[in-house]
Amino acid sequence: MNYSKVVCVGRNYAEHAKELNNPVLVEPLLFMKPADTLVPFEEPIQVDGYECDVHYELEIAVLIGKRLKNADTVDASTAIDAVGLALDLTLRDLQNHLKAQGHPWEKAKAFDASCPISQFVPVDGLNLAKLDLVLDINGETRQQGSSAEMITPIVELLQYASRYFTLNAGDILLTGTPAGVGPLRQGDALKARLLHQQQTLIEVDTRVSE
Ligand code: ZN
Repeated sequence: MNYSKVVCVGRNYAEHAKELNNPVLVEPLLFMKPADTLVPFEEPIQVDGYECDVHYELEIAVLIGKRLKNADTVDASTAIDAVGLALDLTLRDLQNHLKAQGHPWEKAKAFDASCPISQFVPVDGLNLAKLDLVLDINGETRQQGSSAEMITPIVELLQYASRYFTLNAGDILLTGTPAGVGPLRQGDALKARLLHQQQTLIEVDTRVSE
């Protein structure tokens, strides 16, 4: 599968919105990363050479299998091919600076290699409301969340996004990050897991380059 654009949602977990002192939204906040931000999750992450810290955000990724435009619930749920994990890497200080000026965020969110992506597993038989994601850094759990905590659940997110952007096979939806975001440091060891009802679907190890 050739991946296409990545549609992302901000502040989809209430606790994460609060940790960044952002109001909890009533409507999804969408932004995009182009396909060439995608890199294999296992590849070492570079954090040097930027003007500020690179922050991690672990997210559930959804792979779209068919075209969606103004999708209803059935369209949206049948268009989901597979689920995976992504890191929505963010230059947080730059993002805050751009936000304060009322400017777009692309430089802070859509820079090269800003979207490490795992393998995908088919959704057949999975309950999308029972996915858990966990990020450990250097053996310590930093982020933990469940799709059940999403403010806008996955199918509704797809429906909402498809009102503005036609989604095509190969597009990826990132569904927001739970609380616990923070900066990556050189040498950090990351372990990310996606679980379904306590069973591990995906486990990825990566590290931050020295
Ligand atoms: Zn994010």
